[in-house]
Amino acid sequence: MTAVAAYIGLGGNLDDPAARMARAFLAMDGLPGTQVVARSSLYRTAPVGFLDQPDFLNAVVRLDTTLSALDLLDALLALELDAGRQRSFRNAPRTLDLDVLLYGEQQISTDRLVVPHPRMGTRGFVLLPLQEIAPDLVIPGLGPLAPLAQACRGQGVDRLQDWPA
Ligand code: ADP
Ligand code: MG
Repeated sequence: MTAVAAYIGLGGNLDDPAARMARAFLAMDGLPGTQVVARSSLYRTAPVGFLDQPDFLNAVVRLDTTLSALDLLDALLALELDAGRQRSFRNAPRTLDLDVLLYGEQQISTDRLVVPHPRMGTRGFVLLPLQEIAPDLVIPGLGPLAPLAQACRGQGVDRLQDWPA
């Protein structure tokens, strides 16, 4: 089976999110039929929605995977649980959020999975790290990444140092 290029958004703002994201990176690389082939820097973003919580750290990785899109989603949700994520309320603080941003060029719309991720087109904390590792990407249904990312430059998303060793 040929591998598909999937882009995953990572985010978190509780309990040393940088370390959790570094562990998630290793865990994703260990999934069946899956390799992490690129990862962005870490980015820091002020929270949206519920404001009384710590800043978020975000990053994007590219996986080459032979997992189906749904198997990939299930694997990522399991990693979120391993990281101690509790689902409380929308926009709540979280230890680790793993979102399937893109799965090849596919457009998927099922009860459990919508790809491209429905809110990625306006989110600087997704588009700016994505642009770092895939500047020429074209997002199915949305078009070229570059102008979408450009429009997010005022959102206060700061690129940090590289990942902790
Ligand atoms: P959010 O990431 O929007 O804050 P959650 O992480 O709590 O919300 O997502 C909950 C559900 O969203 C998951 O159980 C999953 O079934 C669904 N979902 C739909 N599309 C996607 C996607 N592209 N990536 C991740 N989860 C998705
Ligand atoms: Mg999520």
